[in-house]
Amino acid sequence: MGDVALDVLRPVGDEQHRAATARLLDDMAALPPEAPVRLGKRTSNLFRQRTTDSTRLDVSDLNHVIDLDPVARTARVQGMTTYEDLVANTLPHALMPLVVPQLRTITLGGAVTGLGIESSSFRSGLPHESVLEAEILTGDGEIVVARPDGEHADLFRTFPNSYGSLGYALSLTIELEPVHPYVALQHVRFCSLADVQDAIGQIMRTRAWSGEEVDFLDGVVFAREEIYLTLGRWADSATGQADPSDYTGQRIFYRSLQQRERDLLTVHDYLWRWDTDWWVLARVRGAAAAGAPPMAEAEAAQRRLLEDRRLREPASRRGLGGRPAREAAAGAGRPGRRDPAGADG
Ligand SMILES: Cc1cc2nc3c(=O)[nH]c(=O)nc-3n(C[C@H](O)[C@H](O)[C@H](O)COP(=O)(O)OP(=O)(O)OC[C@H]3O[C@@H](n4cnc5c(N)ncnc54)[C@H](O)[C@@H]3O)c2cc1C
Repeated sequence: MGDVALDVLRPVGDEQHRAATARLLDDMAALPPEAPVRLGKRTSNLFRQRTTDSTRLDVSDLNHVIDLDPVARTARVQGMTTYEDLVANTLPHALMPLVVPQLRTITLGGAVTGLGIESSSFRSGLPHESVLEAEILTGDGEIVVARPDGEHADLFRTFPNSYGSLGYALSLTIELEPVHPYVALQHVRFCSLADVQDAIGQIMRTRAWSGEEVDFLDGVVFAREEIYLTLGRWADSATGQADPSDYTGQRIFYRSLQQRERDLLTVHDYLWRWDTDWWVLARVRGAAAAGAPPMAEAEAAQRRLLEDRRLREPASRRGLGGRPAREAAAGAGRPGRRDPAGADG
């Protein structure tokens, strides 16, 4: 499970959650009434500079699963819990959130308020559509519980896409879905966007392509005439391929789309397949402009670093939870900023 610390693998329970929210209310009450606030999170996936000063609310102890009901297939999760930690809690129950964004450090609250999306969205919608209940800290320092019906239904309805402007999600109760051990992939090349659009329409209508079921759907445009849709299908065994692929070391997932038509990943590696390619962000984050090495060199150097780090990892960690050693390295090199001092939010 990579960098996932052992303490996040145990739901904290309601009492600990209540204590954390009570501390937060005290912090809010201690602020001058007009003081602007922002979240003091440990991670962030925003790449913008702040222009105004505001007080960081310390939400560092609101990043755990509170409880998980494998029978009802629901979990109550603190708002600042990263998807990496959330998935590490659900997979041992053979469950996952209905939508898992591609970066491990995106938090549940961030994805719900920021309209997340991923390859199961064509069948499961956006992350907020599997929220059953939201506990929200409002701007006037009150905690309210918003549900689709009832007193705070308007807040529940408008919270998605509000980016923290209507309040902060302290906990969210979400639906979970069963997983299979593997995801079988087919990369289908198209030469025009019109054809891709037609294919997406057909898959959304029929949930199938060339007679095979489609459970996951995403795509990459390499060039105007080189577009791939990656179709994922749940699989119970590693059929068609001796071992599932591993893109956590020297191999690069996005390049595999051009190199092979079929592939197989464990469900864990499928969920984080893009996260292993995090250096695509180097350009976004302006590293190239600041004199960073060319992308190919930077990629190779970072792949080597990951490999080194994996080999140096103690065997006890590598084998954590009975997972193959390669999965222990999957947490290395995560893209979102880990910022113990509290990231912008
Ligand atoms: C390279 C990259 C790839 C991405 N890939 C995906 C993807 O595959 N799927 C996807 O769905 N999204 C993706 N995103 C978008 C990402 O989901 C959103 O930016 C999301 O809002 C980030 O969440 P975060 O937890 O990192 O929040 P932050 O970056 O810390 O904050 C984002 C905003 O959400 C607000 N916010 C955060 N937590 C809460 C909370 N608990 N309650 C209320 N408001 C809150 C903050 O105030 C801020 O306005 C990607 C973003 C980047 C930069």
